[in-house]
Amino acid sequence: MTETPAIELSGVVKEFTSHGEVVQAVKGVDLRIGEGEFFSLLGPSGCGKTTTMRMIAGFDEPTSGEVLLHGQNVVGVPPNRRDVNMVFQSYALFPHMSVAENVAFGLRRRKKISKPEITRRVGEMLEVVGLTGREKRRPAELSGGQQQRVALARALVNDPRALLLDEPLAALDLKLRQSMQVELKRIQREVGITFVFVTHDQGEALTMSDRIAVMNDGRVEQLGSPREIYERPGTRFVAGFIGTSNLLSGEITDRVGDNAVISLGPEERIVVPVKADAGGELELTVRPEKIDLSVEQPSGEGSRVRGTVTEVIYLGTSTNYNVRTSTGADVVVFVQNANNANDIAVRGDSVWLSWEPRHSYAIGA
Ligand code: ATP
Repeated sequence: MTETPAIELSGVVKEFTSHGEVVQAVKGVDLRIGEGEFFSLLGPSGCGKTTTMRMIAGFDEPTSGEVLLHGQNVVGVPPNRRDVNMVFQSYALFPHMSVAENVAFGLRRRKKISKPEITRRVGEMLEVVGLTGREKRRPAELSGGQQQRVALARALVNDPRALLLDEPLAALDLKLRQSMQVELKRIQREVGITFVFVTHDQGEALTMSDRIAVMNDGRVEQLGSPREIYERPGTRFVAGFIGTSNLLSGEITDRVGDNAVISLGPEERIVVPVKADAGGELELTVRPEKIDLSVEQPSGEGSRVRGTVTEVIYLGTSTNYNVRTSTGADVVVFVQNANNANDIAVRGDSVWLSWEPRHSYAIGA
């Protein structure tokens, strides 16, 4: 990123004093968010996502460190003088105002904008969020998803350079949430401004984001594209938090070509494309959809591990197999269901798990 980032956090720490005790909610965060990027802060409850966002918006000030918006240090600048807008989980719409009045609210308070201009901009924004024709309704006459769109339109109509969204879809049911995820991405593309999105839902972050910062305990554990975060988790925490990960470990027994090999017995081994010497311990992940499950012993140069099926869960388009390996690890395998296919194995069956070397991903290597 060579151009000035839209948002930059540098060494940001935030402490709160609660009942005489100092709580460090954010423990030194560095972030550079590009202009027009869809950027997510993802992590479990209490990891410091909201606090980080509130410091960008100006509702909280850092204890130390800098927050820059478009290259300007904004520490000490009040929220209304920062060129960002925030959308909250509770949409905070005015119940007695119509949709159009809610959206126009911020514009009306600015003196220089004429009435026809306000009407034009409100109309334009309602079109962007797909609410044309519902201008006169009150919030109570709208669905949750529609109320969320009004809140979005109200934030966007002010033309902020960045929009901060704190779990904006959390109150919606699963189906609506999924369709709003696609919708939000479309809106962001259409208006072309920076979106910073806070969520604890990894699926949501993977679906929408250009880049994700995975937070844990007040720090950024990993920063990358959804694919990088999913396929190459940098830490044990990220591997466990994103998707279903199978964590395996063992001592490197030899090297074959570019790969380290963990030999588990005469026929069993795990092959990992990593430069590490024999004798060292290795921890790795392998995603459930990358593993082949078979009753017959597999051939090939990759990993192969024996196990016993402990559970078979039929999910329509796919079937999940839970397998306890010969080393005692629990591994999940996703198998796509082809036409008229029968289950490969049933509970209690002895099976083989195999996967290509490139699908073993060493953690922290
Ligand atoms: P959630 O998803 O539950 O909202 P979060 O990741 O957004 O969590 P924060 O709300 O940023 O987490 O909180 C981070 C930590 O800071 C938590 O331990 C929280 O209890 C603490 N904290 C946040 N705000 C305050 C405050 N005003 N006073 C004291 N402690 C606070």
